[in-house]
Amino acid sequence: MVHAIVVEKGRPAELREVDDDVLGRGDVVVDVAWSSLNYKDGLALRGDPGVVRADPLVPGIDLVGTVTTSRDGRFAAGDEVVLTGAGLGETRAGGYAPRAHVDGASLVHLPQGLDARRAAALGTAGVTAALSVLRLERDVAPGNGPVVVTGASGGVGSLAVTLLAARGHEVVAVTGRPSGADWLRRLGASDVVDRSELAEPGRPVQGQRWAGGVDGVGSHVLANVLAQTRWGGTVTACGLAAGSDLPTTVLPFVLRGVTLAGIDSVQAPADARGAAWALLARHVDPRLLDDLTDETDLAGVLDLGPEILAGRVRGRTVVRVAG
Ligand code: NDP
Repeated sequence: MVHAIVVEKGRPAELREVDDDVLGRGDVVVDVAWSSLNYKDGLALRGDPGVVRADPLVPGIDLVGTVTTSRDGRFAAGDEVVLTGAGLGETRAGGYAPRAHVDGASLVHLPQGLDARRAAALGTAGVTAALSVLRLERDVAPGNGPVVVTGASGGVGSLAVTLLAARGHEVVAVTGRPSGADWLRRLGASDVVDRSELAEPGRPVQGQRWAGGVDGVGSHVLANVLAQTRWGGTVTACGLAAGSDLPTTVLPFVLRGVTLAGIDSVQAPADARGAAWALLARHVDPRLLDDLTDETDLAGVLDLGPEILAGRVRGRTVVRVAG
């Protein structure tokens, strides 16, 4: 028996003792040291049926830990590993338990130079930010003009600001919390825009401001970013913190050749995950990462679920699972 967070149909998420059979199935067993808090974990903790697709479910879409046993030749007892997405905390047991049975196919060795806590601090948010930057840079190079990042104080947003600035882009951060402008500038934003400027319905084509963008919020904010993107620019979309709707027309695409590029980290193949972790290990300054990271434990994350859904969690929160 171990202490884990469990979500069961018709009951609030709780921390309680569970049997090993609740901790998933897979060819690699991992002692989990760290997990993290993501928007999707907030949804799982409140039992959202769009995310909770197993019953009972241990939430936690990220885990970092040490292999104890493995039937996958690429991993051996003692290896430090990280796993993000791949159905964790949605269709199969995730990181909010001290042990997890996982598939070696999606597992990544801890990248050199990253300790376990920092890998958890990056987690799904980091991988998603990195996949967004890699996609954006297929079309937009540093020096091409300002790149806008929405939801900039959140996990994906703050890491996208950090990465893009480290790559030499001019980064404009859009936030609903302008009181955190100095913090965003420390991460590398050269300008900070109040979200209210972009949150209202607007014309589908507007003045051209951005060479590209990284969006994690959707709805009117994304529609306005597309409307303000220069000819030939690219905007990535990964999230729906403002809504899953996209109230625009084809005009930004047919009049300006704008590209809207979807990002999905959950099912990203091994080579894409490897490229994302390499980018993160190379470009995220560990001191900046520590500065944008808070810490909680399994009991604490139950209270933080509603907070992240309300947009009141800043940067990243790691969850101490072991000890
Ligand atoms: P966070 O909650 O950490 O960040 C979201 C940010 O969006 C908030 O901090 C806030 O930033 C902004 N925001 C919140 N509410 C609203 C609103 N009503 N309107 C506009 N902006 C809002 O979440 P994550 O970084 O974990 O995830 C961000 C999004 O990306 C989520 O929708 C998540 O599901 C999705 N996601 C998708 C992935 C994929 O693979 N496709 C992987 C990871 C996340 P501020 O206060 O600065 O405005």
